[in-house]
Amino acid sequence: MTWQEYQLATSKFYEKFESFGKISHNILIPDRLTGQNRQVDVWGEIYVGNHIVTMLIDAKFRKDKLDIKDVEEVEALGRAVKANKVAIVTSSGWTEPAEKYANLSSIDLRIMNPEQALDLIIENKWFMCYSCKDECVIMDSDGAIYQEDSGLFFIWYSGKCRNCKDIYFHCPACGDRKILEKNDKYKCDCNHIWKKNKDELMIKFKGFKSFQRIDNKKKIPVEFLFWANGYPKEFWGRLVFSTLEIDTDKGNSQYFLITPDGGLATPDYLDEDGPSFFFPIQY
Ligand SMILES: [Zn+2]
Ligand SMILES: [Zn+2]
Repeated sequence: MTWQEYQLATSKFYEKFESFGKISHNILIPDRLTGQNRQVDVWGEIYVGNHIVTMLIDAKFRKDKLDIKDVEEVEALGRAVKANKVAIVTSSGWTEPAEKYANLSSIDLRIMNPEQALDLIIENKWFMCYSCKDECVIMDSDGAIYQEDSGLFFIWYSGKCRNCKDIYFHCPACGDRKILEKNDKYKCDCNHIWKKNKDELMIKFKGFKSFQRIDNKKKIPVEFLFWANGYPKEFWGRLVFSTLEIDTDKGNSQYFLITPDGGLATPDYLDEDGPSFFFPIQY
């Protein structure tokens, strides 16, 4: 992650308390002595009756622990912009002298590690990358493929690290989870072969002759995955009577419809208007 993202995450963290006032991030405030603008990571204004209490929050995304000099610098910035309260949020802790100095100066020190910061700003964050420090994997592909011969659905989850682009995948059928680097291949317990081809995830299904790309298959509502995984109806009830188009393992696509009792129907006929399903009238 970048320091800009860390700054944004720090702001997001404080925005949770915005009912007490106003939180801004990455703003300029004039130095009370020189009049020159100073950059402030996060600035809080807390309203108490008709008083305003101001707070400077400095976000420090770094490898090393904070030392006294860092705390002094932020303290000086706090004085320059007339903050009533100063806090430092850091990704990597502080030295003992820095803590003593901060205590004497009533400066709060807080830790927010990169994972906590990424949780606040990255949608679809899956987990942290095993190879990269401070980076996470985004789940950017999941879904179901209809296996024409068996009539079963094959489900997968996969994603990429934002930094190294390694691909992580999970095959729920056998429970395998793997990381693919560069042009790695891996055979899961189902005997499907998974392969990373540049930034694409490929799969060769057991018994098939060739690989096909799997991370670009049609998006499927998450409720369908709940249905396929046998969850109770409240998880997938919304899908009843809606038509789903699902890619098959042989490169075709197939329409389906989920019936109120959780059954699966295929179209009675297909024309230019799309699929039609017939149901007997119940008396
Ligand atoms: Zn990585
Ligand atoms: Zn498998």
